[in-house]
Amino acid sequence: MTLLKVENLTMYWEVLRGYVKAVDDVSFSLEKGHSLGLAGESGCGKTSTALAILRLLPYNGRIMGGNIIFNGEELLQMNDQRFQKEIRWKKMSVIFQGAMNALHPIQRIGDQITEAILLHENISKKEAVDRASKLLDLVGIGAERIDRYPHELSGGLKQRTVIAMALACNPDLIFADEPTTALDVIVQAQVLKVIKELQHKLNLSMIMISHDLAMIAETCDEIAIMYAGKIVEYGDVTTIYKKPLHPYTQKLIKAFPSVIGPKTELATIHGFPPDLLKPPPGCRFHPRCPYAMEICRKKDPQSAKVDGKYHSVACYLIGD
Ligand code: SF4
Repeated sequence: MTLLKVENLTMYWEVLRGYVKAVDDVSFSLEKGHSLGLAGESGCGKTSTALAILRLLPYNGRIMGGNIIFNGEELLQMNDQRFQKEIRWKKMSVIFQGAMNALHPIQRIGDQITEAILLHENISKKEAVDRASKLLDLVGIGAERIDRYPHELSGGLKQRTVIAMALACNPDLIFADEPTTALDVIVQAQVLKVIKELQHKLNLSMIMISHDLAMIAETCDEIAIMYAGKIVEYGDVTTIYKKPLHPYTQKLIKAFPSVIGPKTELATIHGFPPDLLKPPPGCRFHPRCPYAMEICRKKDPQSAKVDGKYHSVACYLIGD
């Protein structure tokens, strides 16, 4: 069953010099119980896509078009009050990056979790505290730490608190925005283990946002590779890793070291992502693509299905 369907979503940031075209004609869908990774370099539109869906855009974010269908309902038609009461936190929530910024520094962690529950559900304070205790046990913090302040916890425990908060109202869908950023590799592995166990135990649907392809491979069923505000390749994780077809995906995968197999020189992608105030015409990757042809500089390639159920690629090298 399809939980989330995003169709042709277009979101711009309004700035003094015009519009930064951060998300352009993005489409994907997520089945219940599945997890999708949004991957790409910084500034490619991953977080902007999530903020647009969660309606957390700052004042200058503008949704210019598209549809966001969640559980069969068009979210863009829903008024803010209903969205905040019935959807955000209750049906879809978010694990923010940087736990220290996501938690209130002078509120006990238990109070922060129960506040989210009481705001969205009609239950007693005692029931909310009981649920917060269970959540702290579930994420491996331990209910006995319910009265701790964030500064009394290590980085890993703070991040687990943010995960517990995201689970507070039993949402159908969780966005995890770079959930292990700023943690050392040992703690990263522990937090990832918690996320994987929760996915399995609670049959969670998840959208994982990361530039770390290894983390997406560990936790996701499908992956969407984004470049300059567009999805350039989409498919199941195994297919994309074994047979990446878009030149950007191929470079991105080769830029990550492998701990198995022979040592090879890591690939680099020359140049920089384009200025999205004035993106290049045609394929946005053409100034950096070693295979760019005349048509790539003129016409935007459309995403087309290739082998398999999900695999699609937007590149003139494929299909035509
Ligand atoms: Fe390269 Fe052209 Fe494919 Fe874009 S469409 S990735 S420029 S070959």
